[in-house]
Amino acid sequence: MNPDSIIAALFPPTCILCGAPGAIGRDLCDGCAAELPYNRHCCARCALPLDGPLPDGILCGLCQRRAPPYDRCIAALRYENPVPTLVGAAKFRGRLNAARLLGQLLTDRVRSEPGSWPQVLIPVPLHPSRLAERGYNQALEIARVLARELALPIENRVCERVAATAPQAGLDERARRRNIRGAFAARGPFDWHHVAILDDVVTTGSTVAELARVLRDAGARRVEVWAAARTP
Ligand SMILES: [Zn+2]
Ligand SMILES: [Zn+2]
Repeated sequence: MNPDSIIAALFPPTCILCGAPGAIGRDLCDGCAAELPYNRHCCARCALPLDGPLPDGILCGLCQRRAPPYDRCIAALRYENPVPTLVGAAKFRGRLNAARLLGQLLTDRVRSEPGSWPQVLIPVPLHPSRLAERGYNQALEIARVLARELALPIENRVCERVAATAPQAGLDERARRRNIRGAFAARGPFDWHHVAILDDVVTTGSTVAELARVLRDAGARRVEVWAAARTP
């Protein structure tokens, strides 16, 4: 018996949401998987959830007014029930099985999208003080799943969070942009033509936009954002 099958026998997959046996080796049952709020109709550029599909080549109103500094955002889920429970478990309660499940769902979504893979995955870094407090970076834990499934390297040290910003929650978009400005520093110059930033939840997108700008300034040419969830 190999170590994976021993672990699977000792800890059979169990649905994080309802406790039923998990399906396809994941901690999610078929019933709960069918009910998840997948981000099916969304803006092709920023992944903003929409009520229905837009005509080909048409972006959401926000992107039409001001295109974000990343080329494309892929978000697997909408940040609606029960996704906040999964994200909260991954972020604040150290439930690595929740981070793994979010990573698996994001892998499914990325595989269904056209286009080439990035050369590297760059998880949104936490400030060292936040990392010390929490013990791990949930964006990195999600990135690990994609790295394994898609055979892509993680670059975890090329970019740091140099400012301990106030939490973005409760701020409007303009305040978020101001709050996050100057928060990241990259160890460029890079010769990457294509990278993907990994995050758990994209809200207004100001954090990933700031990081995308920093990576571009450091030489990355195509910057995507891959997120487990996107707020409507
Ligand atoms: Zn379930
Ligand atoms: Zn958009």
